[in-house]
Amino acid sequence: MPFAPADTSARSSRVSVLVCEHSQVQLRILSEAVRAAGYEVHTANTADDALGLLRLMPIDIFLTGIEVGETSGLEACWQLKSNPETETVYTIVVTASGQEKRLEESLDAGADDFIRKPVNMTELRARLRAATRLVRMQRQFRRMAETDALTGAANRRAFMQYLESQADLARRGGNPLSVIMVDLDHFKRINDTYGHACGDRVLTGTVKAVQACLRERDMLGRLGGEEFAVVLPGAQGEAAIRAAERIRTAVSGQVFTDDKGEPIPVTASLGLALTGHDDVMETAESLLHMADEALYEAKGAGRNRVMIAPPRSETPRIAAVG
Ligand code: GH3
Ligand code: MG
Ligand code: MG
Repeated sequence: MPFAPADTSARSSRVSVLVCEHSQVQLRILSEAVRAAGYEVHTANTADDALGLLRLMPIDIFLTGIEVGETSGLEACWQLKSNPETETVYTIVVTASGQEKRLEESLDAGADDFIRKPVNMTELRARLRAATRLVRMQRQFRRMAETDALTGAANRRAFMQYLESQADLARRGGNPLSVIMVDLDHFKRINDTYGHACGDRVLTGTVKAVQACLRERDMLGRLGGEEFAVVLPGAQGEAAIRAAERIRTAVSGQVFTDDKGEPIPVTASLGLALTGHDDVMETAESLLHMADEALYEAKGAGRNRVMIAPPRSETPRIAAVG
């Protein structure tokens, strides 16, 4: 499952359970019990349908019978655990009586837990609660691994992963995409004049100010130091230019003061790279590189401005905004 920028907020804290049972009656009983326990529920009649759903949507817990069509529930567990994108899905196998010797097989196949038929609903709820504790812990670790500790922006790795997934989509579907590099101006001076702690406040404030300009699918990443990048899926041309200009204004509009209440001026230079023109198939790296070159031009042209990288098919020309 690709990292989604708004994952932590837009994706609810509810835990989702995919219930897979061949028998329609059994499926209804189990899924209703799971729903009544407060989970988001999805259902499938066969392991193959379940695996299809698991590729499409984020599922936290997979609760499956063993005899669930051509592919068995155990085979489905094994497939989930051997795919890095689904290996963290918590799997619970429902075993029928007389299938005791399959318990060992279930656990070996990658089942994290099992529950015996006839399913005791109190036991099922308890097992789901135990699974939920692990799911939430995993989410927390993932958030920590993907977030810059100081500012709360995505870190470089998470940002690059998202940018790559969006650049892939853009190449396959022709969806436009824009990338903006943002670098604070004379930031060293802020540290030197007002101290590192003040510099940190400026970094944190800047992230908040930029995030307030973004839509749900946009992502802000801290690439390092006082250098950030924004990916704007679906934004092209004028809309992307306006977004960059909004970010520039938001950064320079922040109010920071020193001990004496004197204002500390904060500005940023921005470089914007656009796709959606010609047949040039941009990669994450090429887009960042273009945005970085435009940013360099913005610095050279006096800072606190947006520069737009020219399409690669054209002779180098940089347009200025702001
Ligand atoms: P320019 O306008 O050309 O970008 O100049 P600049 O001073 O912003 O750029 P430079 O690369 O010379 O300095 C960046 C500074 O950012 C140097 C470094 O100490 C500071 N910095 C990097 N990470 C942090 C951080 O986490 N906190 C603070 N306070 N400062 C940081
Ligand atoms: Mg700088
Ligand atoms: Mg820099």
